[in-house]
Amino acid sequence: MPTKAVIISIGDEILYGQTLDTNAHWISGELNKAGIQVEKRYTIGDRREEILSTLKEAEERAKIILITGGLGPTSDDLTKPCLLEYFDTYLVRNESVLNHIIELFTTRGREVTEVNKAQADIPANGKAVPNILGTAPGVWIEENGKVFVSMPGVPYEMQQMMTDTVIPQLREKYVKGELLHRMIRTIGIPESALANMIREWETNLPKAIKLAYLPTKGSVKLRLTAKREDEDHFQTQKLIQEEINKVLPTIEKYVYGFDDEEIEEAIGRMLLESKMSLSTAESCTGGYLSHKITSVPGSSQWYEGGFIPYSNKFKNEQLRVPLEMLEEHGAVSKPVVLVLAENVRKAFNTSIGVSISGIAGPTGGTEEKPVGTVWIGYSDQRKTVAKKFLFTKDRLINIHYTAMAALDMIRINLTKD
Ligand code: ATP
Ligand code: MG
Repeated sequence: MPTKAVIISIGDEILYGQTLDTNAHWISGELNKAGIQVEKRYTIGDRREEILSTLKEAEERAKIILITGGLGPTSDDLTKPCLLEYFDTYLVRNESVLNHIIELFTTRGREVTEVNKAQADIPANGKAVPNILGTAPGVWIEENGKVFVSMPGVPYEMQQMMTDTVIPQLREKYVKGELLHRMIRTIGIPESALANMIREWETNLPKAIKLAYLPTKGSVKLRLTAKREDEDHFQTQKLIQEEINKVLPTIEKYVYGFDDEEIEEAIGRMLLESKMSLSTAESCTGGYLSHKITSVPGSSQWYEGGFIPYSNKFKNEQLRVPLEMLEEHGAVSKPVVLVLAENVRKAFNTSIGVSISGIAGPTGGTEEKPVGTVWIGYSDQRKTVAKKFLFTKDRLINIHYTAMAALDMIRINLTKD
């Protein structure tokens, strides 16, 4: 049986719907990967009675209690006072945390106030969890065979603490039958078609390996999970890898990467490897493709830039799409994206140019070109091609699918060469 954990998210803003509780979501995922089972999640406001009673209930349910929010120095932050009350303890100033706070403020050229210094006060029965990115340290308390960890609400601070300190320590303490995950990432094929394609392989999977289909917008991930029953980590890893090797030839055309790699990262990797560069001309996605490409660190090595030729006027004046062509075929058409792709490539002098023109909706559709119709163009030194897609009636989903399809089109053409 995996060790059980509960997550407590504290903050009025979450209850009011002003902040989405991404912390609980993220923590759940990380614990799951680490082989710890999340039993229950609580979302509560900044109220003393609520915090105390939830701590009590949580302790009865699980060995690990992870808390985020309300750890700051302001009067609405109640977590620390509640921990003191709950464990009937007092605060002790932690010297190394204090030094960290002073250093952080000094380098930022700010004066350290008493309120700031008070963040170095840790419950006497606990240890400080270092917070490299901020001032409020986390608090790790072990009582009655249970572990309580209180962390700041700020997502990136909490994530750093979890990754660097909390998860490694929890694993060491609790995880034996650890779960190993591998992910095969596919794009351009629906879940059902993929399932059909790999049915035989799936039926013959060893009992120790579990398969899950994880469809997200525009891509499907295949997750293989095996439990490490003994100490031999590598043996389990090898078992999973063998199964991956068996299935790859069947689905190779659709696989863009493994584990945590996103399609835009895979594209970046492929462009870098082949020393190629990219530019974009996006009409209906308005820069979303460019945003995805530039979210990848190092993208300046392969991405030159893009146009957002939204109006016909701009398509004509900046990217030299003939007005007669726009009139005759409409902006959402094959000839137009072909010209856009080729001309953006030439304008930026890149190896590849990609263009997008579509009807994102909810209005603007016609019988001939319904909402969701998208043309994507691709141009490199050897060829310029275009492909038509028909997505959904939803504007934002269409924008997302379109960017994914454009990335996939780059991938397909890069693998062909
Ligand atoms: P601080 O030291 O900054 O005051 P804190 O521990 O007191 O940290 P909060 O004041 O609760 O944390 O929240 C700080 C920020 O983190 C807020 O912007 C809040 O919206 C965000 N936040 C808090 N809880 C969550 C959560 N569960 N999921 C996502 N964001 C959160
Ligand atoms: Mg706060």
